[in-house]
Amino acid sequence: CADVCPRDAIIFNERYEAHIDKEKCIECGACAKVCPFSAIANRKRPCVIACKVDAITTKEGEVAAIDYDKCISCGACVTQCPFGAITDISFITDVIDIIQGSENNEKYKVYALIAPSISSQFTYAKLGQVISGIKKLGFNSVVEVALGADMVSYNESLELVEKGVLTSSCCPAFVDYIKKNFPHLEKYVSHNLSPMGTIARYIKKLDPGCKTVFIGPCTAKKAEAQLSKVSEYVDAVITFEELQALFDSKDLDITTLEEEVLDNASYFGRIFARSGGLADAVREGLREHGVTEDKFVFKPIVCDGIEACRMALLKLSRSPEVLGGNFIEGMACAGGCIGGAGCLTQGRKSRSGVDKYGMEANEKTIKGAISALKE
Ligand code: SF4
Ligand code: SF4
Repeated sequence: CADVCPRDAIIFNERYEAHIDKEKCIECGACAKVCPFSAIANRKRPCVIACKVDAITTKEGEVAAIDYDKCISCGACVTQCPFGAITDISFITDVIDIIQGSENNEKYKVYALIAPSISSQFTYAKLGQVISGIKKLGFNSVVEVALGADMVSYNESLELVEKGVLTSSCCPAFVDYIKKNFPHLEKYVSHNLSPMGTIARYIKKLDPGCKTVFIGPCTAKKAEAQLSKVSEYVDAVITFEELQALFDSKDLDITTLEEEVLDNASYFGRIFARSGGLADAVREGLREHGVTEDKFVFKPIVCDGIEACRMALLKLSRSPEVLGGNFIEGMACAGGCIGGAGCLTQGRKSRSGVDKYGMEANEKTIKGAISALKE
């Protein structure tokens, strides 16, 4: 172990017992790999390993602390902590207050804005039963955020042509990561609100005074909803886990409910939930705007997970030529939103669940979904 340590951090006492000098150790793990007795274990906490922006430190008295100047609210530490010692801020009581305050939606209407990844989540019930369950909780209407995604991709495709190089703005953790680590690249971030903000703004215009609650897989959306440009449109954010908790609190067995039909968005809006879906939707947006390849060649770089995003942003820092593309789809979670910290289930099945949900959309074009809304 002493031979492989690049920092000479392994020292031996008089009994020839090895010790690691923590001041010198850079935690590269080289010693653990060669130890024939497996005597060196990686005792990094799961949250520290999960945090890809090095926002968690355990120095002072071994108590973990989050550096909020670095944290991008991705929630990876929350899901990885085996003791449940890290939790995201919950707005579940705010949601209960909003519903009760509406007096059965007579004082104001309460809208549930459901993220497209919902299609892969409540695997024990049909999606239509989940929609019914949400209404049973006291929501007046359920709206697909995928429709906001349709609006975003339609606008973002034109913004891309105008600017030449663009990064997506749908994932608040990705946008926050750029702000905190690559501020010189902020000029490339799309000016569009996220699908959540976009659909909430639309609903608030349509029904002033109403309340909107986003329900999704995302802890970063809770932080996004506090931003001044979003807070006037989104009143509260809860995760799928918290939605399940609301069902449980009411002893609501959604499998016994009739199915409600929800069909606002297009195929392309719905596949935003998985990695690559946003890039596909922007390509479709270009096609529907009549932007042909002789006018603009779309070269997306699809990144899921902060490490992949970081690599792309490092390249873009050098130049768009080094990046080798003109559009970065940045999603902080592995696999996209189907890997979000507030998900009930994750994995490959979630991806196929989202694709199936997309295929079931009546509207096959983005324009079709948006114009149906305007009618
Ligand atoms: S929420 Fe994400 S960025 Fe923040 S400390 Fe946890 S893992 Fe790190
Ligand atoms: S990838 Fe999706 S779920 Fe994950 S932080 Fe970004 S928006 Fe939230």
